[in-house]
Amino acid sequence: MLEVFFLGTGGIMPTRERNVPAIALRYKGEIILFDAGEGTIRQMNTAKLSPMKVEKIFITHFHGDHYLGLGGLIQTMNLWNREKPLHIYGPKYTFEFVQNFLNSGFFRPGFDIHVHELGETRLKFGGYEVWSFKVEHGVPALGYVFKEKDRRGEFLKEKLEEYGLEEGPVLGKLEREGKIEWNGKIIRLEDVTGPRRKGLKIAYTGDTEPCERVKLFAERADLLIHEATYLNPEDRGESYHSTVEEACDTARRAKVKFLALFHRAFRYGYDEYAAEASKICESLGVNFVIPRDFDVITFKSGSLAIRNLLEDGK
Ligand SMILES: [Zn+2]
Ligand SMILES: [Zn+2]
Repeated sequence: MLEVFFLGTGGIMPTRERNVPAIALRYKGEIILFDAGEGTIRQMNTAKLSPMKVEKIFITHFHGDHYLGLGGLIQTMNLWNREKPLHIYGPKYTFEFVQNFLNSGFFRPGFDIHVHELGETRLKFGGYEVWSFKVEHGVPALGYVFKEKDRRGEFLKEKLEEYGLEEGPVLGKLEREGKIEWNGKIIRLEDVTGPRRKGLKIAYTGDTEPCERVKLFAERADLLIHEATYLNPEDRGESYHSTVEEACDTARRAKVKFLALFHRAFRYGYDEYAAEASKICESLGVNFVIPRDFDVITFKSGSLAIRNLLEDGK
């Protein structure tokens, strides 16, 4: 199961109501972090997510609201005697910035930290891939896609019966080898399974002004987490951010299933922002959510469920 934890949903600076960007994906026991704004460790503690299960942190760019939590995270990992290495991924200059950051106080991590500077890269891990893509934010900045591997279709009961196959080691062999000889016949895996199941795809923009790379990389994603800092273009000034309408337009053209509006400016309270943003998304026909801190999204047969960790007392 894949769970998306919104640990901080506000942009630019923390407010009473919300923290700055950090998104945790929990997938098969691993926690993968996308951005780590200040206070991410505290948000993780509240969400009961152990930093010891984090092996990879993907930073979108080096504005403070997206990375200043790295220090607290690393220091906590150290206090808990971490030995496992940690991988930090980010755009150009990540090596330099992480190095400077780690040299800024009287502590040294007792575990290895591997820094990876990415361009547009496709990283393959067991069971999933992470793709990075360039976005437009006035400084080197990346968006990311988490893509679960496609899985084989389910075994079809009537087909198994037709071929006289039963649950057990023989199906394991068929799965491993792709075909087996059975009762004098060659049976292929696809003869007895349904259509392949598409792996989940989650795209996250980080900070960006409207950008065609997002549309390209987020194509048909199950969830696009798009920054939507402002409600109106006039509020944007000279900054390289997006409005709700622009995020919706990208989501619609990329044919994503759901859009999560993220990184709203600190000037907006949730209700005010949600009321305006809902009107815009509805008028453009986009399925959307406006996550709050500690919301968790899960997916089930093409649909999305959202719960809040503070409200359900977990
Ligand atoms: Zn930001
Ligand atoms: Zn930024």
